[in-house]
Amino acid sequence: MTQEIKERVLLLFKECDALLEGHFKLTSGKHSAWYFEKIRLIEKPQVLERIVGLLVEKVKNDNIAFDYVVSPAYGAIAIGFLAALKLGKKFAFTQRVEEKMAFRPGWIGLEAGERAVIVEDILTTGGSIQEVIEALKQRGISVAGVYVLVDRTAGEVLMEGKPVGSLLALKVEAFEPEGCPLCQKGIPLAKPGASDKKT
Ligand SMILES: [Zn+2]
Repeated sequence: MTQEIKERVLLLFKECDALLEGHFKLTSGKHSAWYFEKIRLIEKPQVLERIVGLLVEKVKNDNIAFDYVVSPAYGAIAIGFLAALKLGKKFAFTQRVEEKMAFRPGWIGLEAGERAVIVEDILTTGGSIQEVIEALKQRGISVAGVYVLVDRTAGEVLMEGKPVGSLLALKVEAFEPEGCPLCQKGIPLAKPGASDKKT
């Protein structure tokens, strides 16, 4: 990923206010100068379409064969759907069925032997993506690739032993409150809306 594309992605994230700069209390309790408000990504479809367009270019460049784009509910559905539309592939999503990430009954495809690319919004620990991989394996579907808009581990987390494709690989520095340089500067602390699911 070239520097130029990285800068375009950063601008698009800022354009839809998905990437906020300031002083934030994270769910971990640590403080950070950056915060991703990922729900904002789907609030402006016109901006999201341009972001997904860049991700689609990356998938095309990797030149892999697959049948489906699969995303976990809910935030990533719009992202995966747009990607599938642009790539000319089928789309499906997983959701929590009795706590477990699964395909609810009703999908008529998703057959054994097919190949899927997983598209997620933000990779933090890889937990959700791992659950999608398990749901695909249960149906005998192989994982041809994993792509995210933002990789917050900056390439540290591998899925199925392979690197995750991302538009932004960016490890956001987080500080313990006692040693936080932003607190020391007296910048007011904001606690953004907590995400409802583990990523
Ligand atoms: Zn602080």
